[in-house]
Amino acid sequence: MPLYEYESDGGHCKFCKDRFEVLQRLGEPALTACPECGQPCHRVFSSFASVKSIGDGLSPTKLAQKGFTQYKRAGDGQYEKTCGQGPDLIGRN
Ligand SMILES: [Zn+2]
Repeated sequence: MPLYEYESDGGHCKFCKDRFEVLQRLGEPALTACPECGQPCHRVFSSFASVKSIGDGLSPTKLAQKGFTQYKRAGDGQYEKTCGQGPDLIGRN
């Protein structure tokens, strides 16, 4: 499970006065509030490798060789596969 880093938008409880990290399942929506005090917070994109940052700078062919599946946004909440294994099209439904 990836670890996501969050930063509070104004909360000052012990938990969120510094950046904090939350372990979440892939695809789980980002937190919008501190789990401790409920103050608004936002996700910080840190150096943790997301699928996108792994893919950056690599050609689809290279990615496929490494066993990755890459999708590109095709609009309307749908993603089109550019390489690898998996369904050709994924969407919200
Ligand atoms: Zn807090």
